Amino acid sequence: MRETINGGHYPGKDSGAVGATGLQEAVVVRDVMQRVAGYLRAIGHEVLEVQENELYQITDASNEFNSDLFVSIHCNAASSSAAP
Ligand SMILES: [Zn+2]
Repeated sequence: MRETINGGHYPGKDSGAVGATGLQEAVVVRDVMQRVAGYLRAIGHEVLEVQENELYQITDASNEFNSDLFVSIHCNAASSSAAP
């Protein structure tokens, strides 16, 4: 099985959502992408990690990799630091 895992947005260019502490979605999803890729590789999958600023760069990379599955990771933010 070949999967492309995309961490949404791009650190330094497109932060995505920003939480009350300033934590950026692009940074969080990069970490999640790397963890998911590690888990999948550990069970024998071939995984492409891609995080780019332009959508065509992401889709071109995934198509060149001949992926069976494409997953794009995103997350939300809250303006209150009391949010769980
Ligand atoms: Zn997002």
